[in-house]
Amino acid sequence: MSITLQALPEAERGQCPAQYSFGTGFSDHMFTQVFDAGQGWHDATIKPFGDLALHPAAAVLHYSQEIFEGLKAYRRQDGGINLFRPDANAARFNRSAHRMVMPEVDPEFHVEAMKELVGLDSAWVPGDEGASLYIRPTMIATTPKLGLGAAASYLHFIITGPAGPYYPQGFNPVSVYVSHEYRRAVKGGVGEAKTGGNYAASLYCSEAAAKKGYTQVLWLDAVEGRHIEEVGAMNICFVYEGKLIKTPTLSGSILPGITRDSLLQLAPTLGYEVEEERLDIHEILADIASGKITEVFGCGTAAVVSPVGLIAMQDKEYNINGGQTGPVAQRLFDELMGIQYGERDDPFGWVIPVT
Ligand SMILES: *Cc1c(COP(=O)(O)O)cnc(C)c1O
Repeated sequence: MSITLQALPEAERGQCPAQYSFGTGFSDHMFTQVFDAGQGWHDATIKPFGDLALHPAAAVLHYSQEIFEGLKAYRRQDGGINLFRPDANAARFNRSAHRMVMPEVDPEFHVEAMKELVGLDSAWVPGDEGASLYIRPTMIATTPKLGLGAAASYLHFIITGPAGPYYPQGFNPVSVYVSHEYRRAVKGGVGEAKTGGNYAASLYCSEAAAKKGYTQVLWLDAVEGRHIEEVGAMNICFVYEGKLIKTPTLSGSILPGITRDSLLQLAPTLGYEVEEERLDIHEILADIASGKITEVFGCGTAAVVSPVGLIAMQDKEYNINGGQTGPVAQRLFDELMGIQYGERDDPFGWVIPVT
């Protein structure tokens, strides 16, 4: 397999602008390849960024047969560029594909495509501290047929765009609303897959929480409505007495975050204990009230670590660490970012240089 390069002439290429906001600006090129039943993947191309042409009956538009990924390219101090665990992203992309009855991609080829794309558009990788180039691999079902069934043709594409530092003014702990009415995902459903419908389904509750003044929704399990699953589109961690980090066990409805997995491996090397456990919201709130829980934070690629300053359950609010960022969140943030930007040792071999 090889990638056909249809690059813009140098003179027509852009670069990361001085001002940009996440998710709205895109770099010069995109990767695409096409799958047809019988033929497999073909026509891998890196070409100028542009609109897709889709038949109005394309399966993705009606039945949401779609998956995506999110990862970042980081500018090192020496000017080079790092990817962080792209192989883990590729593996998760394929697990999502499998669950959504979509064809898997060759994971090494997928990583190669990201490296080539980011290398070609390296002028779009911002150099300011904490900024990055966000990479969004996606796959959609394109068969033009309204009958319900797994599609026969697919488009796999990768787009990228600059993302500013998540905390330009320093950490800003978020407030979280426990959803007691709506559920994100159920065991046996597709919560483990990074598939678009999960996010569409979450919007109603996020909007309701925002109207009440909360930034994120904390999701409980859909069966008993008491086990903690995730916060927004992040995994969640609770710190006991400044040294034990607890996170919910992957339940079948939790998205297995690569940041979560990285922190579970990294934290013990920094002297913290880690535990994966079923966490009951009522016990957690009691432990916050008694002061046993000293910090709460979300974790995901976008923010790395996102401290939670307040949790609201129905009409009761629980403050955590006086609404301030705690030392554990700060330490994990600094260490993981340090690895991503090539400023700290990478004993796990997580960092893959592009250039
Ligand atoms: C992507 C995602 C995460 C975080 O995963 P990372 O690999 O750490 O970025 C957590 N929860 C949900 C629902 C997600 O979509």
